[in-house]
Amino acid sequence: MAERKSLEERFWGKVDKRGSNECWEWTGAKSSGYGGIRDGKKVVYAHRVSWELHNSPIPDGLWVLHHCDNRGCVNPGHLFLGTKADNVHDMMAKGRGIYVRGEANGQTKLTEKEVHEIRTLLAMGKLSRRIIGEMYGVSQQTISCINTGSAWGWLEKRNIKPAKGEYNERSTDD
Ligand SMILES: [Zn+2]
Repeated sequence: MAERKSLEERFWGKVDKRGSNECWEWTGAKSSGYGGIRDGKKVVYAHRVSWELHNSPIPDGLWVLHHCDNRGCVNPGHLFLGTKADNVHDMMAKGRGIYVRGEANGQTKLTEKEVHEIRTLLAMGKLSRRIIGEMYGVSQQTISCINTGSAWGWLEKRNIKPAKGEYNERSTDD
């Protein structure tokens, strides 16, 4: 009774498997449209599990993306590996994902992660600075500054260390 099923067995128990060209809809729990499945103590994305079952472990830093644009789909034929920047580019190619922040007319703060993403997008050379600026709700000029390194140059010097025992997880947004 208390027999443990493997991740693979549990995975297949929650897939509406169809023809190789059709979407295989995840029938288990979903979050933001993506299927989720428990793996030990954590919940992992079902489409990532599908990729690993059919291919190999996902290299660090890479995402498993959908050709079919259906987040709940786990058909390995509809999945491909890419970077976060590929995901953004893919969304734009499909005509969604373009957003401008509400505070675009005021001061927009970019997170460190976003600056890295912008650098990746710039390095890909496929999107104009104006488009990238629109995606992140900042001016074209800001994007140019990030490109030349005159803005956010401090990201390269990671010399800020919290004093011992003084670090806490709370993010202060000031
Ligand atoms: Zn699909």
